[in-house]
Amino acid sequence: MQQVRVRFAPSPTGYLHVGGARTALFNWLWARHTNGKFLLRIEDTDQLRSTPEAVEAILVGMKWLQMEPDEPVLFQMTRHQEHIDLCYELLERGAAYADFSDPEIENQKREAMTKAKLQYKFDGSMYRSIPISEQKKRMENEPGNFAIRLKIPEGKTQWNDIVHGSIEINHAELDDFVILRRDGTPVYNLAVVSDDHFQQINLVLRGDDHISNTPKQILIYQAMNWEVPKFGHLPMILGTDKVKLSKRHGATAVGDYQKLGILPEAMINFLALLGWAPGDDTEVMSIDELINRFSLERINAKAAVFDLQKLYWLNGQHISRTPTKQLIDKCGGIDQIKETTGTSELTVEQITKSLELWKTRVKTLDELISYAQIIWKDPLTYDQEGLKKQFQDPKAINRCLALANAFEKLETFTHESTEAVLRKLAEEESQASGETIPAGRYIHPCRLMLTGLTVGPGLFDLVVAIGKEAVVRRLRKAQQLT
Ligand code: GLU
Repeated sequence: MQQVRVRFAPSPTGYLHVGGARTALFNWLWARHTNGKFLLRIEDTDQLRSTPEAVEAILVGMKWLQMEPDEPVLFQMTRHQEHIDLCYELLERGAAYADFSDPEIENQKREAMTKAKLQYKFDGSMYRSIPISEQKKRMENEPGNFAIRLKIPEGKTQWNDIVHGSIEINHAELDDFVILRRDGTPVYNLAVVSDDHFQQINLVLRGDDHISNTPKQILIYQAMNWEVPKFGHLPMILGTDKVKLSKRHGATAVGDYQKLGILPEAMINFLALLGWAPGDDTEVMSIDELINRFSLERINAKAAVFDLQKLYWLNGQHISRTPTKQLIDKCGGIDQIKETTGTSELTVEQITKSLELWKTRVKTLDELISYAQIIWKDPLTYDQEGLKKQFQDPKAINRCLALANAFEKLETFTHESTEAVLRKLAEEESQASGETIPAGRYIHPCRLMLTGLTVGPGLFDLVVAIGKEAVVRRLRKAQQLT
């Protein structure tokens, strides 16, 4: 079997869009799955719109998503001369011709047709059959006064799209399209074929907004007698309102999600599910699992829906699966965490332990850090509903104070010793009052005083992480609730 060679070919005119990243990812996964090659080509031939910042944004985004290309990045503009040469080669072969028509007149014709709601098609009959030698003479005499157009033969172009199945286009729908503009610049469809052939790409997987370009590109391959690659067109991405994804739906730049505390592995997992599914109910997958399970057959032709809630859910799943040490690195390291949270006195162990306790309960890295601070800093506010519920019983305050006293006396402050103390207090109270006092009557008010919240990690894990002194101090604040 021929080695798979695929590419991602973005035009650097903005940022790395999630749609582009999804295209890149499907190509990358397929290359990794098949032990093939994944290439990155920056299509910077639109010199007016391409910017170095946009190139940088693509490179940074790709790096963040760990999709490193297997060969040096190809900048399309470096092959500008080859693209021009290909136009002339097509002309030599009789597959293209020089068009000396007056652009003004053609524009007027186009406008009139559009007004009449008819499709404008260039009529090349005047130039199509001029012998090449004559065309060349005229081109020499009238530089800048001609474009080169591909001669579309009669018939149809058909390909078996990897995603959509057989697609057939009748050539009557196409006109002899320009391959070299009057200003001497080659068009996108020409440059893409030239580069894909040069880079020996044998599968072109790209967004389905390119379907209409594919027959034109196939015609160029055929005119050159080049092997035509396979094509697959990935479904469009819609927002949850079923409208094409746009800025209206929120962040569409991959870099924005990085800033929002999304892990690259969660983003990759999420993007992979935009138009592909493994065939069972599995949703949370590591990069290796995705590589293993990815298949072209399971790419869905129907539009995919970008559901932000799902991205956050997946992110939470990946955060809880990530070793805490790695999470610390992802948050910028221990020193960075200490600096942003103003907790220079904490030890590595304390920070690690706190993150450990919260990482299964958060959706982003930012949330992780803010919840961890609950352990490090006394609460400034308390859940109001919780206060009402837990301190409705006036004895709740005394229970907190009794806990504070008992905890204070403990020499070893562990999960076991603190739990034993709490349960003992509940039992003693039961005996003294003759009614059963469940441990929850101590646990819930205690959690509220320690964290300000009604839910969170196991209480005794929290107690140990917060530390004796702070636990006692926080519990004694219950006095102020009277
Ligand atoms: N440069 C094109 C784009 O950004 C993609 C070309 C291709 O994949 O063939 O839409």
